Amino acid sequence: MTEKCGVVGVSLDGRDAARPLYYALYALQHRGQESAGIITHDGFQQHSHVEMGLVGEVFDESDLDVLNGTAGIGHVRYPTAGSVDSSCAQPFSVSFKSGSLGLSHNGNLVNADEIRDELAGVGHAFTSDGDTEVIAHDLARNLLEEDLVRAVKHTMGRIHGSYALTISHDDTVLGVRDPQGNRPLCLGKLEDGYILASESAAIDTLDGDLVRDVRPGELIVLEKDGQGYDSYQLVENDNTAHCFFEHVYFARPDSVIDETLVYEARRNLGRRLWEESGVETDVVMPVPDSGRAFASGYADAASETTADGEMREEDDDGVEFAEGLMKNRYVGRTFIMPTQDERERAVRLKLNPIKSTVEGKTVTLIDDSIVRGTTSTQLVQLLKDCGAAEVHMRIGAPEIVAPCYMGIDMATREELIASDKTVDQIRTAIDAESLAYLSTDSVADVLGKDRIDLCLGCVTGNYPYEIDGEETDRDVTRPELGDQPMYADD
Ligand code: SF4
Repeated sequence: MTEKCGVVGVSLDGRDAARPLYYALYALQHRGQESAGIITHDGFQQHSHVEMGLVGEVFDESDLDVLNGTAGIGHVRYPTAGSVDSSCAQPFSVSFKSGSLGLSHNGNLVNADEIRDELAGVGHAFTSDGDTEVIAHDLARNLLEEDLVRAVKHTMGRIHGSYALTISHDDTVLGVRDPQGNRPLCLGKLEDGYILASESAAIDTLDGDLVRDVRPGELIVLEKDGQGYDSYQLVENDNTAHCFFEHVYFARPDSVIDETLVYEARRNLGRRLWEESGVETDVVMPVPDSGRAFASGYADAASETTADGEMREEDDDGVEFAEGLMKNRYVGRTFIMPTQDERERAVRLKLNPIKSTVEGKTVTLIDDSIVRGTTSTQLVQLLKDCGAAEVHMRIGAPEIVAPCYMGIDMATREELIASDKTVDQIRTAIDAESLAYLSTDSVADVLGKDRIDLCLGCVTGNYPYEIDGEETDRDVTRPELGDQPMYADD
């Protein structure tokens, strides 16, 4: 499971934007490893450098030296299979009669094909099959007739789906979040300007301060030369649809989303996991690195109460927390290995158990998710091969039963082990003594949200957007595209 994109935008007072953008992209590298790019504007012309590869591979000193200008945007991307080529690398740029546009997008539109067909019918030529280009062309078209804020509002009325965008219109930088706020976007203050970024860790990297999350349906316009920002609430919506997996899996633990440190949210989910399905074992062990915060919260809660919810006696230390699986940091991420056979070998390359921490012991292994079940099966087997007497598996999120259509590269429904198996069947498949997931209600409760304000599509099969062949859990009716004319009367 991988996040597909990270976005950033800065406006600075007298300092070139290229290097801050480059460092911010480094901080967002976990959100996309296939391509990286920066677009800047120096007040006269736009400069762009976008290539396939990691941030450190895509840019060198000479590339950054020619990205002139105090305003700019950046992007890191992980494309889905089938579109692994440079035509979908971002930021996407368009030049048109009234200037130049750059666009970085995290998310996925559900009506991109409709808008592409309509724009192609009136002469727009598309160079990629990506939905970002659709947004760029629609916005460029509106900008021929309207001012910036009206043009963005007009485009927001036409595009549907999930999007967190950073946009450059000449040397003005904008940030936009879809009306349900599915993907994260936050605003930060730097010493000499402002920054918009997918995660606050990028703001920290530049020694900035997090101001706040960009609100769902909000447009933020950074003033030129980093002097301030303007906010426009362009679309109001009754409910949000924040992706709960950002808190569980995708975002960096040191990022703050919805005013909560992701690390703390994961620890609290781990605590709730103990309260909901704790099992007394000798050792609690995280799957590194994904299960670490959950396991720490779980073990903390286990040191306070028994699995039955009783306070522990003073001489009862509860369960031991141990790092029993060591990670080989020089092995690439397993998801880039395409075949099942290679994936299985990758787990053994990546993790090695410390025999003395597991031999003869009952072990609770904690992770944040089970996707195909391959990794969990391998890990349970590894621990048993090292002499673990029993292995109990606990997962800090509900079962993933359905794919994501909102910008996460997840397995297909057929590949998801929980799509057609009960928890007990999965337990049997991974050969654990017991298996429990955190309930959906607990996730919402711990994150301090009503269920209806979260996207839970991949764990419930009910999506917050209209998706062909899938169920929805809310009113997603939207005007026909024909009711949203290409040019607004306003
Ligand atoms: S379907 Fe799952 S991964 Fe996708 S946005 Fe919704 S909660 Fe996030």
